[in-house]
Amino acid sequence: MTYDPTNVFAKILKGEIPCRKVYETEAVLAFHDAYPKAPVHVLVIPKGPYCDFTHFCQEALPHEVADFFAQVSAVARELGLTEKGYRVISNVGADGGQEVPHFHVHILAGKRMGPL
Ligand code: AMP
Repeated sequence: MTYDPTNVFAKILKGEIPCRKVYETEAVLAFHDAYPKAPVHVLVIPKGPYCDFTHFCQEALPHEVADFFAQVSAVARELGLTEKGYRVISNVGADGGQEVPHFHVHILAGKRMGPL
């Protein structure tokens, strides 16, 4: 899998375009989605060059994968979402509807999300 370093999230990580940051660690960045699909819509991305969920799980070290998902949970806690709940999704590839080829998860919340 070849990572495209010109994708929009790579540009956000390089500081070439702005984002509304909500959380950051050495390895992870979380920011508001520019076109929110729910009252709360935050994206969480690893800082490493991973194209999608499959690529991330295959290429990242086990502790990096574990840390990433721990940070997703931390973001939800920081946003105060734990009590009422939230949805975490990751779109993968063409059938998954992935638009930006840098692995990310969506945190969606702030209303009853309903069935998929
Ligand atoms: P996906 O379809 O899973 O690849 O999701 C990509 C998401 O990135 C979409 O929900 C877009 O609204 C969002 N998005 C695209 N460009 C930006 C940007 N510059 N800042 C924040 N979110 C963005």
